[in-house]
Amino acid sequence: MSVLSQPHFHNEEAAIARLEAIVWPEGPYCPKCGGFDRITPVKGGRLGLRRCGPCKREFTVTVGTIFERSHVKLHIWFQAAHLMASSKKGISAHQLHRTLKVTYKTAWFMEHRLREAMRDGHFKVMGGEGKTVEIDETYVGGKEANKHKGKRNKKNIGGMGKEPVFALVERGGKVRSPHVANVSAKTLGPILREQLDEATSVMSDDGGARVGRMFATHQTVNHSIGEYVRGEVHTNTIEGYFSILKRGITGTYHHVSPQHLKRYLAEFDFRYNERMALGVTDEARTVKALRGIIGKRLTYRDSSPGTG
Ligand SMILES: [Zn+2]
Repeated sequence: MSVLSQPHFHNEEAAIARLEAIVWPEGPYCPKCGGFDRITPVKGGRLGLRRCGPCKREFTVTVGTIFERSHVKLHIWFQAAHLMASSKKGISAHQLHRTLKVTYKTAWFMEHRLREAMRDGHFKVMGGEGKTVEIDETYVGGKEANKHKGKRNKKNIGGMGKEPVFALVERGGKVRSPHVANVSAKTLGPILREQLDEATSVMSDDGGARVGRMFATHQTVNHSIGEYVRGEVHTNTIEGYFSILKRGITGTYHHVSPQHLKRYLAEFDFRYNERMALGVTDEARTVKALRGIIGKRLTYRDSSPGTG
C-alpha cells in the first residue's frame, strides 16, 4: 500500500488531526495564554476549532504557522510535503501543479514555503576530534553557458554565469552548503573558521588547499595531477553530494535564480541530512519538514513566482 493512501493525504479532518499530533505532542495548548487546561472543541465551529476555557480564545492548530492564511487545504499541503521530502532530485513546481491540481503559482509558492521550513535554523559547529569533514566548491544554475560568447558575463568566467556553492560534508554525517559570493580564501576562510571545530580532520582537493591550511590536520588530493584517492584521503563523499545537487538543480529545476538559490540548497541539504542511511524514513522526513513550518513565515514580498 502506498504511503499516499493514508487518510491525512486525502481527508481534511484526518489531516488536521495528524498536524495536531505533530504540533501538539503533549495535547493542545492555547496560543494566547499558553495554558493546557480546559481546552475544548467548539461545537458547530470550523474543523479543528477549539476554545480555551480560562481566556476564551478560539483557535486551531494552524495558528501561527504558514498554513494559517493559506487557501490550500491542509491535506494537499501534506501531499506536497511528502512529494518534496521523498523525491531525491526534488519536484518541480510544474510537476506539483499537475499532481496536486493547484495553479502553477500556488505550487511555486508552496514549494518555497516548504524549502523555508527545511532550512536548518539551529546553528551547530561541525566536525570535531576524530571527525572528518570534506570541503569543496561547485557551480550550479545559470544559463550563461548557453549564451553567445560575446554576451556572457565576463566577471563570471570560471562558472560561466553559474553561482558558486561551497559545501562542508562530514563523513557519515551532515552537509551544509552555503551560497557564496565567490570562492576566494577571503570569503571561504571565515566560513570554515565559524562552522568547523578546529580539531576536525579536513579533506579537500588541491583547490581547497588555500583555505584548509588553517586546520592542523588538513589533507588534500591533487586532482590536477589525476590523484583522487590516497588511502583515507579523498573527497568522494562531497562529490557524491554535488552530483545529486547538480542533477536536481539542472534536471528538475532547470533554472534557479541567484536570489532563491539558498532555499534550493536548503532543500537538498535537508534531504541529505535526513537521509535513509541515517535511519530517517520518508514519513519521518515529511513530518520533520512540516514541523519546520511552524513559526516560519514567508510572504509574497520575499518571493515572487516566475523568477526561478
Ligand atoms: Zn487561553
